[in-house]
Amino acid sequence: MITVLKQGTTVEQRDQLIKWFEDQGLRVHVSVGEYQTVLGLIGDTTKVDTDMLELLDIVDFVKRITEPFKNANRKFHPEDTVIDVGGAKIGGGNFAVIAGPCSVETEEQITEVARRVKAAGATMLRGGAFKPRTSPYDFQGLKADGIELLVKAKKETGLPIVTEIMNANHLPLFEDVDVIQVGARNMQNFELLKELGKTKKTILLKRGLANTFKELLMSAEYIMSEGNENVILCERGIRTFETYTRNTLDLSAVCALHELTHLPVVVDPSHATGRADYVKPMAMAATACGADGIMIEVHNNPAKALCDGAQSVTPDQFDDIMKRIKTIREVI
Ligand code: PEP
Ligand code: MN
Repeated sequence: MITVLKQGTTVEQRDQLIKWFEDQGLRVHVSVGEYQTVLGLIGDTTKVDTDMLELLDIVDFVKRITEPFKNANRKFHPEDTVIDVGGAKIGGGNFAVIAGPCSVETEEQITEVARRVKAAGATMLRGGAFKPRTSPYDFQGLKADGIELLVKAKKETGLPIVTEIMNANHLPLFEDVDVIQVGARNMQNFELLKELGKTKKTILLKRGLANTFKELLMSAEYIMSEGNENVILCERGIRTFETYTRNTLDLSAVCALHELTHLPVVVDPSHATGRADYVKPMAMAATACGADGIMIEVHNNPAKALCDGAQSVTPDQFDDIMKRIKTIREVI
């Protein structure tokens, strides 16, 4: 349930009302916007008398939220969430470009790619250290050493780093990581989500291979309900009957998620298509339809990449993509 306060309500009046809700066992989420203050009530609101509430001088209106996701709901928090990741902002008109290899392989590889993507205008560096591979015989990532190399690349370039977690027991290794990614395969690993909710780290939550928008939002809710509101959603393609591309990029996710939630939405055209030559047009399309950012796999030698070479663009190709993105941003 949300209670929207009238303009001119004083902080004392607001806090008095919040205390009254809390005394009834409810948790109150306060969203102070430019024109409106919204109190989001979490818990059993069935006993709250909405008619009585609406009679209060300071209350504009009261509305029950029927969707099961509360914290992530735009009704709860009408303004776009803006997340600041070490100076790189995302959301509310701030565009993020997350670029880097699928996996961290060597120091030379990650620092070279980091330097190049930074020069081209990327705002964050990605690189997998713990890799969720379909086959246990494939390269599983450099693990802790991979994170160390990412941290080195961060020190050298100043780019905040994004890397995937697969097991909550590994959290101590992620101390210097700016954004923790939850990959598509773990979108519904609820125990992992709850643990990440207890941290203050920004979480990049990727949509599962066969999950709906509402399931994605319920997963965001697992993180947010534990107290961590720094969640970025990522559309990375879903499984359909089409097998020509690796996945099917569902760009309508950007529109639907922007309607349903205040959280930033990024698009990953690399995993969505599986093909380097499709990354540029899909990155342009994602930018044009209003995504808050894009995530692109870049490798200095895609033919030799240990993971996802076919969908990785070279630094030169990335330069070109960035130029196109900038032009589209100016137009929209
Ligand atoms: C990745 O970003 O490298 C990755 C494994 O992505 P996804 O979880 O979307 O497959
Ligand atoms: Mn990958």
